[in-house]
Amino acid sequence: MKENPRLIRGMHDLLPEAYHGHQSVIDAALQQAHLAGFQRIDTPIMEESRLFDRGLGASSDIVGKEMYSFTTRGGEEVSLRPEGTASVARAFFSHGLAQSVPLRYFYAGPMFRYERPQKGRLRQFHQFGAELIGASGSLADLEIIALGQEILNTLGVADKTVLHLNTLGSTTDRAAFRDALLAYFSAHKASLSEDSLRRLDTNPMRILDSKAEQDRALLADAPMIDEYLAEASRRRFDQLCTGLQALGIAYVRDHHLVRGLDYYEHTAFEFITDALGAQGTVLGGGCYDRLFEIVGGKPATGVGFAAGIERLSALITAPEMPKADCALIPIGSEAEAFAPVLAQSLRRAGIATVYGFSGKVKARMKQADQSGVAFCVIFGTEELAQDVWKVKDMANGEETLLSTEALQAFLNTKIR
Ligand code: ATP
Ligand code: MG
Repeated sequence: MKENPRLIRGMHDLLPEAYHGHQSVIDAALQQAHLAGFQRIDTPIMEESRLFDRGLGASSDIVGKEMYSFTTRGGEEVSLRPEGTASVARAFFSHGLAQSVPLRYFYAGPMFRYERPQKGRLRQFHQFGAELIGASGSLADLEIIALGQEILNTLGVADKTVLHLNTLGSTTDRAAFRDALLAYFSAHKASLSEDSLRRLDTNPMRILDSKAEQDRALLADAPMIDEYLAEASRRRFDQLCTGLQALGIAYVRDHHLVRGLDYYEHTAFEFITDALGAQGTVLGGGCYDRLFEIVGGKPATGVGFAAGIERLSALITAPEMPKADCALIPIGSEAEAFAPVLAQSLRRAGIATVYGFSGKVKARMKQADQSGVAFCVIFGTEELAQDVWKVKDMANGEETLLSTEALQAFLNTKIR
């Protein structure tokens, strides 16, 4: 038997209700971004594979095992984007924007990672994100975190999340810290989980955010970044903390927060909720100066965040779906034929109008009512001939007789 095409594992459809929630998250985020001077940009969902291979680092989980990469008909090695920041850095160089800094960008769109699908973890998911390019230091970090916080406030989810904050130090601090971690975990190899054992050689810092019970026991005595921070790195972090206090943004210092990508240094942060089960990070980011060298061969500075739209949609109170103002219930073929004409004139007057319910008049009224319209216009041949329309207010059942001209004015005042 022939099998019908199915939805691909880890991908999802957004039916209207879900789409509406999803879009309302983006709208709220973009509104806050605009208030803070960030402009929307869009980059392609596909890039040269080497952008991500180099940019995110070979030791990252994403490049190691989660990429959707393929060769095009023309022989180009391309990948569906797993995240947005590398593309933004690429665009920065493609358009020669070095003279235009500081730049404040906002993006939103689908990302692709071949992960094991589970609650809150999809293979095609959506992110919005903000990037501040060409400004650096604690003030830039603060600006980005404050924007993230303000978006969560606007979405009404701030009280369900906790800001976790850490510093990874400069590249030099990080290297010294990495060596210390390597020495410590190497001495405890026998107790490490399989995943962490693999990370020991590639990226020992990632062991710090391991969720495995046996690793966690080792973490209590593991070296801490603070011991390896240069004076300037420490000052930068302290200034950020002071800035957060001034803005009334609460945070917890999380020594084990590292972020999954290699390009981060200095500030790293995540807003985490316990309301969604295991996949609790809704918005995370940090400073990624090093990415620019890797992607474009020239230095620049960047700090930003990315947020998971599906996870935020699951956290918000679902916004009400937009409803039509008015439903037409034509009776008889002559009236049926006139319904599109009447609908067109009402729509042009700004009144959202639907028609085309099927069945007996009573059944159609019921369908209209269930769809949530505020008014029904019921008409047959006689009403057409006499230019009188019966309008029913669905909230109280009240009926009014009106001419075509009066009908528009009536509905317009009622729905505003
Ligand atoms: P996680 O630790 O949950 O895997 P991450 O560190 O890989 O997250 P980022 O790359 O920082 O995540 O992406 C930013 C946000 O995008 C995450 O905090 C999360 O909300 C969302 N996100 C990441 N991967 C997925 C996925 N596979 N499905 C749904 N949302 C995701
Ligand atoms: Mg991940």
